[in-house]
Amino acid sequence: MVFFDLDDTLYDHRTASRAALRALREEHPSLRRRSLEWLYATYATALETGHRRLMAGRTTPAASRAGRMVEVFGAAGEEISAREAVRRSAIYHAVYRANERAVPGAAGLLGSLRRRHRIGIVSNNRTREQRGKLGRIGLAPYIDLLVTSEMTGCSKPDPRIFAYALRAAGVSAPHAVMVGDSWVADVRGALAAGVGAVWFNRDRRPLPEPVDVGCVERWRPTERAATTIEGRLAGPNPS
Ligand SMILES: [Mg+2]
Repeated sequence: MVFFDLDDTLYDHRTASRAALRALREEHPSLRRRSLEWLYATYATALETGHRRLMAGRTTPAASRAGRMVEVFGAAGEEISAREAVRRSAIYHAVYRANERAVPGAAGLLGSLRRRHRIGIVSNNRTREQRGKLGRIGLAPYIDLLVTSEMTGCSKPDPRIFAYALRAAGVSAPHAVMVGDSWVADVRGALAAGVGAVWFNRDRRPLPEPVDVGCVERWRPTERAATTIEGRLAGPNPS
């Protein structure tokens, strides 16, 4: 069983988010005073905070999206009304949607792995949203199992979400591998649950700690990426 994270592992959130922020930046002088990198980092932090509140049931998806605009523009020194936050978040959302795509090489990799393994997603997000993304970028046909923090009530790196995924897949930890871009959520989380890990290190960052993991920087060439992932599996599940 090969488990993947979705955002920025298979689904190219970063590219879509940057395109959407670039569009807002063109329209609003307060954002033009800041770099796109600052904007991306500020938005990502707001997304993370909002996600935790959303998962705790303390806000709705729409309020959360608008709240991110209040937060990001506020950080750039511009106070905006609730109505303006909704309008700006709609622009962000439209440009984001127009720029959605899979991480290059992801479909080829999944196609290759799926000849030999089942594929699952373990993601910190809402189920409906993640299902929608998989469908729109054409990866849904490769996915046998989707596990989200919304379904399980716990988020990566909590080992309970990995335990849930293993149970749902009917495999033991040594017969599964987790592949993801987040060192803490995906790599540390999987290792804490006894599952081997592959770090998708797109930015070629140094290994944060000397632990035994596989590393892949690109999904192409397919065979090289597939070999690294399969190298972390103990072998076929006896069933
Ligand atoms: Mg991710």
